[in-house]
This record gives sequence, structure tokens and C-alpha cells, in this order.
Amino acid sequence: MKAEKLILDGNRVAADIKETLVGKIHRLSEKGIVPCLATILVGDDPSSATYVRMKGNACKRLGIQSIRVHLPKDTSTHELIAAINQLNDDPNVHGILLQHPVPHQIDERAAFEAISINKDVDGVTTLGFAQNAFGLADFPSCTPAAIVTILDYYNIPIEGKHAVVIGRSPILGKPVSLMLLNRNATVTTCHSKTTSLEDVVRLGDIVVAAVGKPKFVQGDWIKPGAIVVDAGYNDGNIGDVDYDACITNASAITPVPAGVGPVTIATLLKHTVKAAEKLTS
Ligand code: NAP
Repeated sequence: MKAEKLILDGNRVAADIKETLVGKIHRLSEKGIVPCLATILVGDDPSSATYVRMKGNACKRLGIQSIRVHLPKDTSTHELIAAINQLNDDPNVHGILLQHPVPHQIDERAAFEAISINKDVDGVTTLGFAQNAFGLADFPSCTPAAIVTILDYYNIPIEGKHAVVIGRSPILGKPVSLMLLNRNATVTTCHSKTTSLEDVVRLGDIVVAAVGKPKFVQGDWIKPGAIVVDAGYNDGNIGDVDYDACITNASAITPVPAGVGPVTIATLLKHTVKAAEKLTS
């Protein structure tokens, strides 16, 4: 008999998060405060434009104000930082999200660093990252936080487990590795120079894929009973995990779409509301 598979339903987790925000947003409105997220998109990359639109729409549905700043693709680092500073100085803006990636002429790190720590709702500044590393962040990066939230929602133990994270980007692989480490997992972080990747992944009780390559993780890389979290999101709604192959060995798995993505957006809204609340406390 085939073992039952647990599909980790991100839409359900996201709905739960959003429900907790409704009352908070209402209480803020009684104080005359409307939480506000500003998103900045530089250029016309269609995927980035879609992500920004999805975030703005999610804000509106919940009564969070959304400001969309759209800059031309030839924007300089200096011009982008000037736009960020304007949002930093605007008391009605509580969270700032600079959509990654930005065009190549821009120093993305310098732009991220320009975001005020109080408005860094995606944990992209050096200070926000460091606070997350110490387990002290008000606003840990949204996708890593979403991954841990999904595991917690489904009561999947993290402590003592071997977590294998594929990817080490500053917004995803590294912070999720640190968050899992802070939760007492034994963490291996893999990257493009990792040798015998498949053998390393086979050690994972929890496998997090954050590679940016469609269907990269193969079914026979997954240890029987492992938990598979697919953070990837590639063109055509395709994750970084070969879902149909990996579900055979996995005991639980996130689908794409409707896995990590919606929880990431809900986490962004949660952080924006928290940033607005912090002003009143
Ligand atoms: P990224 O900055 O391109 O980083 C990709 C990472 O994968 C790098 O660390 C890279 O290693 C590693 N990698 C690339 N090829 C590899 C290989 N053959 N073997 C092992 N590791 C390899 O990407 P990202 O921004 O972290 O995003 C990763 C994925 O998550 C993408 O699919 C993205 O769309 C998705 N994402 C989803 C959400 C969401 O809300 N669901 C949010 C953000 C990102 P090196 O460091 O050695 O180059």
C-alpha cells in the first residue's frame, strides 16, 4: 500500500496568516493608520512585473495601501537610491520592497542597503540579515520565513533534523539555512560548486530547493520519508523540484504553484502590518 503523502498547502497557510491580520488592520485604522507597502520595480522584466502586481493586489484585498514605484530600465544606482530615500522619509510608508533582480548597471547591494531598517520588511539590508542570523529580526526575509512557517503549520519537527538547502542567495538560501540552524536543525547549504550534490541531498530529512532551475531536484535524490520544500518559481509556474518524481519518496511536499509563493506574500503583508504597528507602540 502506498504511504499517504502530505501536500503542504501554501494557500491554506497564507489564508490563516491573512486572517490574523484583519483585526490588526482594523485596530490600526481606528488610530487613523493604514499600513502601506511601497514596491519598487526597475525595468520591464515581465516576471518581476507580475510579482509586484501580485503583491500590490494582495495588499489591496486586505486593506493595506500599496504604492507602486516603477522606474525605467536605465535608472542609475543614484536615482534608485534617491527614490528609496523618498520612501524612507515618507511617514505614510511602512514597508519598502525593491523587486529583485534589478538591471545590471545598478549596484543592487547599495540599493538594498539604502532601505531604512524600520521599513526593511523583506530583510534585505545587512543589518536585517544579521538580525535574522541572530534570531532577532522583526522582519526576516519573507520567503525563508514562509518556509519555516509552513513547516510549523504542519507540525513538522525541525530540531535535530538534517536540513539540506540547495542555494545560498542572500535573500533565500543563506537566511533559510540560518533560520533552520536557529531552530536546531543540522544544516548543509549547497551551491553551484558543491560536489556530489545528489549524495548530499540524499542525506536530507528536510530538503529546501532554492536554485532557480526548473525541475532541478530529481526524484531519486530524495531520501524516503523526507520533507521537500520547493521555493523555486520559474517561468510557466514551475518549481525547482521535479514534483511528480520527488513525491514518490517524500512524505510531505510543497506544490508549485500554491506552496511557498502565497505564504511569502502573506508574510510580506504581515511584516508591513507589524511595521505600522511598531510606530504606534
Ligand atoms: P539566485 O540568487 O539565482 O541563487 C540561486 C542559488 O542556486 C545560488 O546560490 C547558486 O549557487 C545555486 N545554484 C545554481 N545552480 C546550481 C547547481 N547546479 N547546483 C547547486 N546549486 C546551484 O536565486 P534566488 O533568488 O535565491 O531564487 C532561487 C529560486 O527561488 C528561484 O526559482 C526564484 O524564482 C525562487 N524564489 C521564489 C520566491 C517565492 O516567493 N516563492 C521568492 C524568491 C525567490 P552559487 O551561489 O554558487 O551561484
